[in-house]
Amino acid sequence: MALIVQKYGGTSVGNPERIKNVARRVAAHRAKGDQVVVVVSAMSGVTDSLIKLAKEITPLPSEREMDMLLATGEQQTIALTAIALQQLGIPATSLTGAQAGIVTDGVHTKAKIQNITPKKVHALLDAGNVVIVAGFQGETAEGHITTLGRGGSDLTAIALAAALKADLCQIYTDVDGVYTADPRIVPNAQKLAEISYDEMLELAGSGAKVMQSRSVEFAKKFGVVFEVRSSLNDNPGTIVKEETKSMEGAVIRGVSLDKNQAKITLVAVPDRPGVAARIFKALAEATINVDMIVQNVSHGAGTPATDLSFTMDKPDLLKAAKVIESLKSEVGYREALTDEKIGKLSIVGVGMRSHSGVAAKMFETLAKEAVNIEMISTSEIKISVVIELAKSEQAMKAVHKAFIG
Ligand code: ASP
Ligand code: MG
Repeated sequence: MALIVQKYGGTSVGNPERIKNVARRVAAHRAKGDQVVVVVSAMSGVTDSLIKLAKEITPLPSEREMDMLLATGEQQTIALTAIALQQLGIPATSLTGAQAGIVTDGVHTKAKIQNITPKKVHALLDAGNVVIVAGFQGETAEGHITTLGRGGSDLTAIALAAALKADLCQIYTDVDGVYTADPRIVPNAQKLAEISYDEMLELAGSGAKVMQSRSVEFAKKFGVVFEVRSSLNDNPGTIVKEETKSMEGAVIRGVSLDKNQAKITLVAVPDRPGVAARIFKALAEATINVDMIVQNVSHGAGTPATDLSFTMDKPDLLKAAKVIESLKSEVGYREALTDEKIGKLSIVGVGMRSHSGVAAKMFETLAKEAVNIEMISTSEIKISVVIELAKSEQAMKAVHKAFIG
């Protein structure tokens, strides 16, 4: 008898028909004699509309009360799912995060799980129940309801799988698994049978979002192997696990494109110690997450000066431009140029560690497409370039074709 944790996201429980469909899936597993714990999100759109309601009262509602409010979204779904299972004649009991023993710190709206004592879950499973747990929520040691940050139901499922020592953890969503590229842009994209935690994290950080990154980090830390698959068909999904030798066979696991980036270039920044520290400290204080940074060598006569470019998420561009403007007289650069029309194209794969010439092949492919590379950054298993937005999809297709097919 296996213990399975299944998580269903907002779209998979988006209406009563879909909830009945989830109940049928759970029933099929249970018929094989498995014990099933189901984690559900709020029905799609519910969390957003609850946030909207609060904002109609005040733009800055208290975070404790937001947690109280948002936790009700998942609480609706657990009850509805239990009702659907009972309707099929299957004993089922729903539990809030707190009832399931999920204890978090007190950082409202983005709490971290501190420990899980799933006593009630075990007892209900042993009595023959399917147990349905509300995702995205927990409570503090003092008994205040908390939530785990947007998309946090994934984390609930992974953490519960670890705490219950589950044999299998399945994340059901509205896509079939993890693909070598976004199939809407690259029609040739293939579904991956498996991917390592690190590759999945690099792809997510480069714009290919299938799951909340924190939950993948958690899975890596606790060695939880999980499968991402669709709740709308029976196709096998993608297994996410620790890197294995065989994974190095492929040079590149996937290609991703992030169109949500913007760039600021400071022209003729005086080249002296402390300047970069001053600029990036000010940006950090304004909670702007800087992604890539490129600084050129000094040029010009007299005081040496250099150009400095960096990227950030597009919604942060205005705020970043203001911070930079406020430093103009102190730092003494000539002008600041902003550019929203960029795309960040990345290739990811653990095979990069053992294959050479990967960057050269990527750059050659871009050259053939007459795509100019504006910035480059690399990690051990990733190469990213910033390119012109208008050519970014064409570039993505070409790079996918060169490495994957
Ligand atoms: N309902 C929450 C959200 O929309 C949590 C989740 O869906 O995982 O962010
Ligand atoms: Mg969701």
